[in-house]
Amino acid sequence: MAIIEEKPKEWSFVLHSAQLESGKIYHYDWCVYFEGVVVYDGVCFEFSNNIEIFVEVQRNKNQIIADIGLVARCEAPCSRCLETVALDLKQNFRYFYTPCVSEEERIAIESDEHVVVIEEDLGLLDLGDQVWECLVMALPEKVLCDEACKGLCPYCGMNLNKGNCDCFKKQVDPRLSPLSKLWKDMEE
Ligand SMILES: [Zn+2]
Ligand SMILES: [Zn+2]
Repeated sequence: MAIIEEKPKEWSFVLHSAQLESGKIYHYDWCVYFEGVVVYDGVCFEFSNNIEIFVEVQRNKNQIIADIGLVARCEAPCSRCLETVALDLKQNFRYFYTPCVSEEERIAIESDEHVVVIEEDLGLLDLGDQVWECLVMALPEKVLCDEACKGLCPYCGMNLNKGNCDCFKKQVDPRLSPLSKLWKDMEE
């Protein structure tokens, strides 16, 4: 499966912003098939499903406010036991699209990650970059098959959710040997 590092070129979610009347709310939906692996923070997230995008848009003078919602599914390995985990992703962000004014204002605006400066209201607004941002931000920082996942044995690699090995008792660090003695005493 191809590794995808940036917004797919064919992703274009265009609003006819010139036709939006101030004070009205408009709804847009898109559904795109997305296939590939997104690597984020060293974790491979595999996609081979539709991504649904729901957008609510309104105009406020020369500013356009878009609430972008995204629903997607993907698979990633559990960070402890490496078993494949199916993930339901959801994200909602509100973006303010605003024409740039002065240089100072532009700097102030760009420091807020959900404000997008548009050069000029050209009548068409492509939300593609923000949809991609929503998808990446929806990826979890840590993937776990279960909060209580026991992970893999560091010695033999056995998945400890499926049973126990006896490596730990055999290969106990000599500095911990009083502990292994205690262990034996407990077992006897
Ligand atoms: Zn796990
Ligand atoms: Zn083991």
